[in-house]
Amino acid sequence: MNGQVAQILIVEDEEPLSLLLRYNLEAEGYNVETVARGDDADTWLREKLPDLVVLDWMLPGLSGIELCRRLRTRQETKSLPIIMLTARGEESERVRGLATGADDYVVKPFSVPELLARVRALLRRSKPERMADTLTLGEIELDRVKRRVSRGGRDIDLGPTEYRLLEYLMERPGRVFTREQLLDGVWGSDVYIDERTVDVHVGRLRKALNRGRETDPIRTVRGSGYSIDDRFGKAS
Ligand code: CA
Repeated sequence: MNGQVAQILIVEDEEPLSLLLRYNLEAEGYNVETVARGDDADTWLREKLPDLVVLDWMLPGLSGIELCRRLRTRQETKSLPIIMLTARGEESERVRGLATGADDYVVKPFSVPELLARVRALLRRSKPERMADTLTLGEIELDRVKRRVSRGGRDIDLGPTEYRLLEYLMERPGRVFTREQLLDGVWGSDVYIDERTVDVHVGRLRKALNRGRETDPIRTVRGSGYSIDDRFGKAS
């Protein structure tokens, strides 16, 4: 994932299975979170955005299929990769699962290597933009090979943090990130930094991007955080 560790959320109420999955996914190098209830997962996913969700069908609080349906109706999670875990022999449910918007499904009981292969395949498939050498948004271009950014053909000089911040936002255009999400995604979740630091770096990024320009690609979402998309606003 472009140097970043992919984060996987497991939503599963059978604790032994949840532990087994966590153990094996962590051994593969993923950053893993687990939630045992559907409603808790719903809340969690409004706060954070993992790279992939392994979602059990039958859950207390809110069923996996209902959660999946909800996730697909929200802009931020519309294309979030989801692997559904279903019980054996439920062909009609399997079909319903995919119709609800899961990207893939695995029938229980399954082999761990099989699930790991599905996870790898889905992450690869769902992340072409994160693998690309160049990210483009309107007139802004970010070249990952040369680590260079330009706007309208003119080079923009960015510090390393501003570069990573821009790269992170451009990988996910249109998504609104809270300061906490940006700290996790850009600085890493092990680092303790004040959330206001995010504002400082967004400010610097803006200044560099918008120098001599009329429009501002970065949107401040009051009470929420920041996003970037091609509907550039007015630069202040
Ligand atoms: Ca279950």
